[in-house]
Amino acid sequence: MNRREFARLVGLTGAGLAAKRLLPGSLPPNSTAKKPTKVWVWIGTDLHATVDEWKSRFEVMRNAGVDAILPEIYNSREAFYGSEHLPVGQPWLETILPLAKDAGLEVHAWMWTMPCNVLAIVEKHREWFVVNRLGESSADKPVYVNYYKFLCPSRSDVWEFVGKTVSELSRISELDGVHLDYIRFPDVILPVGLQPKYHIVQDKEYPQYDYCYCDVCSSEFRKETGFDPMKLEEPSSDLEWNRFRYDRITHIVNDILRPIVHKEQKLLTAAVFPNWKNVRQQWSHWRLDGAMPMLYSRFYDEGVTWVGEQTKEEVGSQKYGAPVYSGLSVGQLSSDELARAVRVSSESGGSGVALFSGGSMTPDKWQSLKRALTEK
Ligand SMILES: [Zn+2]
Repeated sequence: MNRREFARLVGLTGAGLAAKRLLPGSLPPNSTAKKPTKVWVWIGTDLHATVDEWKSRFEVMRNAGVDAILPEIYNSREAFYGSEHLPVGQPWLETILPLAKDAGLEVHAWMWTMPCNVLAIVEKHREWFVVNRLGESSADKPVYVNYYKFLCPSRSDVWEFVGKTVSELSRISELDGVHLDYIRFPDVILPVGLQPKYHIVQDKEYPQYDYCYCDVCSSEFRKETGFDPMKLEEPSSDLEWNRFRYDRITHIVNDILRPIVHKEQKLLTAAVFPNWKNVRQQWSHWRLDGAMPMLYSRFYDEGVTWVGEQTKEEVGSQKYGAPVYSGLSVGQLSSDELARAVRVSSESGGSGVALFSGGSMTPDKWQSLKRALTEK
């Protein structure tokens, strides 16, 4: 069967061709066999390991059943690939990419999307940044942490800036895809398990965490609805105002970034929130090749059962059928819980798991992962 026939058979055309590469192994499309579990691993920027160390890490991953890695090559401050428009820390991607490919792993570049801590941009383009309901810009008064300087999703200059990064990455021939992180607004409400860490109680939406009320957002919303968002009595429960903000991010994913990535025959994936409304991230409407909801159960005071429940709900809610990979915080899980989470995800209709992160895995957990994958 050639590529075109395969695409027709599984109902994929044009850019959708890229999606077929998400099917691991050589399972024929009409097989009744159990769907294989694809395993992804996020790898935080690590500039110190040697070539030999990477070789052996990748071998451990491959042996345990890992299919794809997501190395963090842009952290909103510096790029770790040879970017021509961002400050470059070190071309780390260029070091590990061939090593990972030699080990038989897919490589998807993990990039921060909406936060921007590039000094030159913060200084020169203050107007690009989101503004809260108190009128404060995240460029000079970020909430929670100093790096919460988010770009406004309504501005074409921002689309161009983010698009440039995605375009540079998509043109790296050996790369398999681009992985969007922080593709959202700042949290208007933090996960319940994280609020004590910041010594705050968020029982409702408070104005200092609520974005974006900048000139462009306000005037676009007025054009669409006739209302000024600053003057809404209950902005948190205003369906139109919420929808407007969901749509801003969805537009960036579906209409700005997706065509750039698919033009180069690469896959587009994203790290997303289970409590999506709190970050204005309606990812069930995104045309992704893979969604990785960060089901970090402890942040929500939950356990492994919740991982299954969330996965099931999220698989069912995908408007365009994006495969869902349950994101697991392996540092929060024992080896047994990790194995259980892998099984529960698969039983709930998930297409696999994404492990956060490679650095938190232990020999025991790799063993446990391997057992969970082979027992099925
Ligand atoms: Zn705005």
